[in-house]
Amino acid sequence: MPTGSRYTGLIEHYRDRLPVSDSTRIISLGEGNTPLIRLENIPHETGREVEIYVKYEGLNPTGSFKDRGMSMAVTRAVEEGSRAVLCASTGNTSASAAAYAARAGITAFVIIPEGKIALGKLAQAMIHGAVVIQIRGNFDDGMRLVKEVADHAPVTIVNSINPYRLQGQKTAAFEIVDALGRAPDYHCLPVGNAGNITAHWIGYCEYSHQGDGRVTAACKYCAGECRYAGRGVTGTRPVMVGYQASGSAPFLRGEMVDHPETVATAIRIGHPQSWDSAWKVKEESGGWFDECSDAEILAAQKLLTSREGIFCEPASAISVAGALRDIRSGRIPEGSCVVCTLTGHGLKDPDTAIRQCEGGMLTVDATLDAVKRAILDSMAP
Ligand SMILES: *Cc1c(COP(=O)(O)O)cnc(C)c1O
Repeated sequence: MPTGSRYTGLIEHYRDRLPVSDSTRIISLGEGNTPLIRLENIPHETGREVEIYVKYEGLNPTGSFKDRGMSMAVTRAVEEGSRAVLCASTGNTSASAAAYAARAGITAFVIIPEGKIALGKLAQAMIHGAVVIQIRGNFDDGMRLVKEVADHAPVTIVNSINPYRLQGQKTAAFEIVDALGRAPDYHCLPVGNAGNITAHWIGYCEYSHQGDGRVTAACKYCAGECRYAGRGVTGTRPVMVGYQASGSAPFLRGEMVDHPETVATAIRIGHPQSWDSAWKVKEESGGWFDECSDAEILAAQKLLTSREGIFCEPASAISVAGALRDIRSGRIPEGSCVVCTLTGHGLKDPDTAIRQCEGGMLTVDATLDAVKRAILDSMAP
């Protein structure tokens, strides 16, 4: 075996902070280690002095942060002898489950809402060989069915109610602290089921446990017996800010939403599975929830692609849409270090991207003259 320093995934990298043993067979596709990119152009437009970083989770193996949790969940499912995994999905969970199940040599069953999943995600689930079950219903219906079916069939649920999912996903917070040398002041992210905001908070809490039994701020998750006490690497934790699409915003309404609608299909969720823990995250971190319209979401997606060269899917862009609004209003104060999670890659949903670019293509004759004219006309002031 070569002896270089090849990166082999987040379980190996953060092994001592994850629930695996020396004999565990690790199911990995090299997930994690995603870039933390500093925005160079967009911050100027706010007229405020802030540092904004985006954690580009779209660069995970299947194009979303779900791979962090799925590596851990499928690793444990296989270790426990499971031959099949099952999930309900707005798309990315199914893509990830399908890929990691293929890698492990087990079967993935995925339940998706008919007609409401982005094209790239559907292609992934199908090509990796998952059994794709479309239902005439939404994600929340699918989630209810998954819980019911799991009582009647020998399958492991790999939605974020599987606690290993959050364990894998907490590593994103570790990577951010490792990269910055400190925790950011604010961490902004999209909220659907609220598993990811919870997972980040778990990660930040673990990383802030100092020595001598002292915890910099009370961490409710460890109940005073945290095995990470004494292994903290930072003294602070960020304020956690979660954004929801207006048509799909149970945390803003203060109750479940029965018919969620938004262009951001990844967060088209009316009955969040991590309801209680997300409220705790908000309280403990001193954070808040807010909502953005579909128009704001798409504008932020366009801004990131056209001004920074970063292509994320609509749900991901809500973190930047919301952060920019809160920076402009001063709710996120000047001088802050802000991290926004870009949860999934823009190529997941090419239809929505192309629909935003009407008139963005020129069709001309295949002649030097026609092409030259097209270029010169486009450069005219
Ligand atoms: C799953 C997902 C979300 C929502 O994450 P939760 O943990 O459900 O809150 C946001 N964006 C993308 C791209 C996703 O795939």
